Amino acid sequence: TSFAHFSFDEQLMHQIRKSEYTQPTPIQCQGVPIALSGRDMIGIAKTGSGKTAAFIWPMLVHIMDQKELQPGDGPIAIIVCPTRELCQQIHAECKRFGKAYSLRSVAVYGGGNMWEQSKALQEGAEIVVCTPGRLIDHVKKKATSLQRVTYLVFDEADRMFDMGFEYQVRSVASHVRPDRQTLLFSATFRKKIERLARDILVDPIRVVQ
Ligand code: AMP
Repeated sequence: TSFAHFSFDEQLMHQIRKSEYTQPTPIQCQGVPIALSGRDMIGIAKTGSGKTAAFIWPMLVHIMDQKELQPGDGPIAIIVCPTRELCQQIHAECKRFGKAYSLRSVAVYGGGNMWEQSKALQEGAEIVVCTPGRLIDHVKKKATSLQRVTYLVFDEADRMFDMGFEYQVRSVASHVRPDRQTLLFSATFRKKIERLARDILVDPIRVVQ
């Protein structure tokens, strides 16, 4: 598979060319077409596999489609991950690849300044990258609404469970409309993750790195 197989538009292809990636990684070859098709997906993949781009590229296509269908405020895509560092990394990738479309991304994580995050959310963003508990705090304080979210990603789900975030992860899923597309990434596929997948995904396709 080459990048041309994904049928991305010229703006996104331009950003990919700038990144000097020569070819898609295995998780991208398998995962991108599934994510583009609108199906739910379970990706069993570790850091270094290229999993981040595998959910960001289809997310950008999804957002550009939805922006016209659903005008309004609030994020269209949410990426939930375990730590501040991962939030910042994913946020940087969203900005890099989303630049071509002038999409706005906000990173919202535990330990960061609540007021500054709240202000950034209220200024508006199509993409929110977050840790689960902090996102729920902002939703409860009405800093943002999740009613426009139709693309939901959980990254490093097993690590979020290890950190005791299962309740918060499930809470985020319950705040997002059921007719969304959901992608779940995890390095391992333990019983608890399997159960989560059964509860929050609809007829998912499983991809193993
Ligand atoms: P990830 O597994 O998403 O954390 O990505 C690991 C690293 O691989 C990151 O530094 C990415 O920029 C890089 N990367 C992602 N996709 C590709 C690709 N197709 N070719 C080469 N490097 C890539």
